[in-house]
Amino acid sequence: MKLFEVAYPVNHKPTAEEMVDAAARACGVPRQKIVRCYIIRRSMDARGQLVYRYQVRALTGGDQPPKEYRFEYKNVASARPVIIVGGGPAGMFAALRLLERGLKPVILERGKDVHNRKRDIAAISVKGLVNPESNYCFGEGGAGTFSDGKLYTRSNKRGDVYEVLHQMAAFGAPESILTDARPHIGSDILPRMVEAIRECITSHGGEYHFEARVTDIKPSSGKERWAVICDGGLTFCANDVILATGHSARDIYKLFDTHGWALEAKDFALGVRAEHPQSLINHIQYHGRWQPGIPPAEYYLAEQADGRGVFSFCMCPGGILVPSTTEYGSLVLNGMSNSQRNGPLANAGIVVQVSAADVPQYSRYGTFALLEFQRELEQKMFACSNSLRSPAQRMVDFCRGRESASLPKSSYAAGTVSAPLHEILPPFVADSLRKAFVLFDRKMKGYYTGDALLLACESRTSSPVRIPRDPNTLQHASLPGIYPCGEGAGYAGGIVSSALDGIAIANSI
Ligand SMILES: Cc1cc2nc3c(=O)[nH]c(=O)nc-3n(C[C@H](O)[C@H](O)[C@H](O)COP(=O)(O)OP(=O)(O)OC[C@H]3O[C@@H](n4cnc5c(N)ncnc54)[C@H](O)[C@@H]3O)c2cc1C
Repeated sequence: MKLFEVAYPVNHKPTAEEMVDAAARACGVPRQKIVRCYIIRRSMDARGQLVYRYQVRALTGGDQPPKEYRFEYKNVASARPVIIVGGGPAGMFAALRLLERGLKPVILERGKDVHNRKRDIAAISVKGLVNPESNYCFGEGGAGTFSDGKLYTRSNKRGDVYEVLHQMAAFGAPESILTDARPHIGSDILPRMVEAIRECITSHGGEYHFEARVTDIKPSSGKERWAVICDGGLTFCANDVILATGHSARDIYKLFDTHGWALEAKDFALGVRAEHPQSLINHIQYHGRWQPGIPPAEYYLAEQADGRGVFSFCMCPGGILVPSTTEYGSLVLNGMSNSQRNGPLANAGIVVQVSAADVPQYSRYGTFALLEFQRELEQKMFACSNSLRSPAQRMVDFCRGRESASLPKSSYAAGTVSAPLHEILPPFVADSLRKAFVLFDRKMKGYYTGDALLLACESRTSSPVRIPRDPNTLQHASLPGIYPCGEGAGYAGGIVSSALDGIAIANSI
């Protein structure tokens, strides 16, 4: 077996014949000795002429073929149930693994199925109405369903990332996610993938219950360990309960607090969303060589400003900004895009690390200090216009400390209103952002520009609270059979790492 790399111009899709020729050259053998060639990874190289670099694995006679991913789901209609609270990536991938192992997933999801959820999502931007149970964070597929569907992760040590990608491809994600160095799916495909996962789970005897918000968890009076109670009193019992409720389920943290169950404060990050013309980002990143047919450019930026980390988060090339709040009276922004990423604007969260020490005035809230800080900031943003219109300011005006006389066009459908974000954001956040934008411009010349718009706030980067668990059993430190899982428990961030955490929990059960 030989691993080798080969480069082709971006507009040239190499044929199988060309790959075999390249493999024969790399292996130093005649081409008929090459049994198979696999593209493992494809990445764009914009340093010189624009090329795609392909990492290829070539097999000659006697070589072991690479691992094949096969998923075999058992019929679990009469198997032992495992309750999964939350149908996001963590919950869905835990359920799929349970099916493989012959246990019955029972998913309790507060939101609606993806079809009905779409109407509530549309009503947020169009009518300014926020259904607290069905929105960009809550509903089938969780927070990842209407997103950019970026699948990059640094959590390679948490499990087999390729297993998750292969499973997604089997449920309708594009095959390109298996080889692209920066795989993404897009909001036009994600809902179908989520539905296909549900169909697989229910057709094998698993259960989905929508509009089933869990309001309490108690020791069961029957033979199972736990009784999980939903709005309206509907109760489900099981020995094992996976809690995969995401970072916006503040009521679940309050439930733990009410029961006196352990929780921990956790640092997180917040800031703004920066929106630039995509053509500018393409020009910077491709050094003026972008041409139609080439994927819109992305960026990742990180700097230290006064010893505080400031970094870009969840960049959406050609995407749109969306209101991802879960409560009426608060404003939170995030980004999403379709699979083509062909919108005229690029947006990214630009966020600043925050710890409890930064907000001593919230210390009276104990474990919830950062959560209350987050909530109040989101309410403050809403109060700027008493609506979901986002307070906004040109990047240059923000750094110079003056309100913007005019605002460039934004992708944010609910609208923008000029506001002095440099004064509204907490001073330590505003200061760090101001310094970072100038530093970012040294890495991406032209990034700091009057054409860039800042909108606020981006505050749900991760959970400000952790539900602690035993590192070996993955159960809550003092609640046998309760498995805190995914982003809401503080053990993952992003679609793939949450899915991996779900799989790890299911394995543990
Ligand atoms: C607009 C947007 C864009 C994003 N883009 C990306 C991206 O491109 N790439 C990426 O990796 N990540 C992205 N993210 C983040 C990503 O979606 C999350 O990291 C991921 O979904 C977390 O998975 P999870 O399963 O842990 O939690 P969630 O996806 O948050 O799922 C939790 C589920 O639990 C349900 N729930 C909560 N409380 C209860 C309750 N009491 N009872 C019953 N059900 C409950 C919720 O309704 C929800 O469906 C984006 C997020 C948003 C909002």
